Amino acid sequence: RRRERERGVSGPGRTADGHPVGLLVNLGALAELDGAAAADAEGVGLFRTEFLFLDRAEAPGQAEQTAAYRRVFEAFTGRKVVVRTLDAGADKPLPFATAADEENPALGVRGLRTATRDPELLETQLAAVAAAARGSAAEVWVMAPMVSVPREAAEFAARVRAHGLPLAGAMVEVPAAALRAGRLAEVCDFLSIGTNDLSQYTFAADRLLAPLAALLDPWQPALLDLVAATAGAGAALGRPVGVCGEAAADPELALVLVGLGVNSLSMAPSCLPAVRAALAAHTLGDCRELAELARTAADAETARTLVRRSMNAEL
Ligand code: PEP
Ligand code: MG
Repeated sequence: RRRERERGVSGPGRTADGHPVGLLVNLGALAELDGAAAADAEGVGLFRTEFLFLDRAEAPGQAEQTAAYRRVFEAFTGRKVVVRTLDAGADKPLPFATAADEENPALGVRGLRTATRDPELLETQLAAVAAAARGSAAEVWVMAPMVSVPREAAEFAARVRAHGLPLAGAMVEVPAAALRAGRLAEVCDFLSIGTNDLSQYTFAADRLLAPLAALLDPWQPALLDLVAATAGAGAALGRPVGVCGEAAADPELALVLVGLGVNSLSMAPSCLPAVRAALAAHTLGDCRELAELARTAADAETARTLVRRSMNAEL
């Protein structure tokens, strides 16, 4: 095991020169819990809580939520769990939380916005997370989806802290949030970039529409610019910045993200080994060079090709 760690094929994520990169798993259902907990990861980087709310007429009560969260925290004793509060709306409609008559649900009352319309929904969830966190040895972080402006992040952070939960963060999924990431980072403890939605809103392209896949390619230099802006703003204030969208699971792109200044990557457990190995084979300086190459490219395809070519040349 020790030799494995030294070679970078197990243990905490590190570049070849020892720069730490948090490697975490995404968790979206209790059925995935055992597999996620068994993964060689530092914790959960994105706990999607929607599964508890789907396929039902009313929101689950506090006791039911507490029991579910407690199971997750117990499975991750001694590790970190980043709980994302309910992200209803758009691709995740819920009868009790989202309006059926919105013409553009992706631009509607979704994510944290539902909490503004129905504060009880968020209050109950935060109370359940806090109750489950009490007496658990997991390190519980709580973040909000679909934050657009700093005031939303500030209000969310205040509500999280009022429940005795010390670490409140904002997801960066909207270009406005990335452009003003410094202001967001000033009012909360960490940022987590959701590249799936950030692509959708940057390119005005529905993330579920296959014909738009080229626009949604996470190698798009414009998306990388927004990641760089967010990571730079977080670093300036000493706030950790993670990526929890699909982009984090691509080993080559993961190097670019680290080169842009991202501190942690969260992905499906099966993707961890390849990302860990890629990191272990490159220094932080290599990652920065690859990031620079990708950002100078004119388009996504060129960015990917330039990075691959450069990586092969190193070998
Ligand atoms: C994202 O948007 O990148 C993200 C991680 O959240 P979700 O895919 O659940 O919208
Ligand atoms: Mg999202």
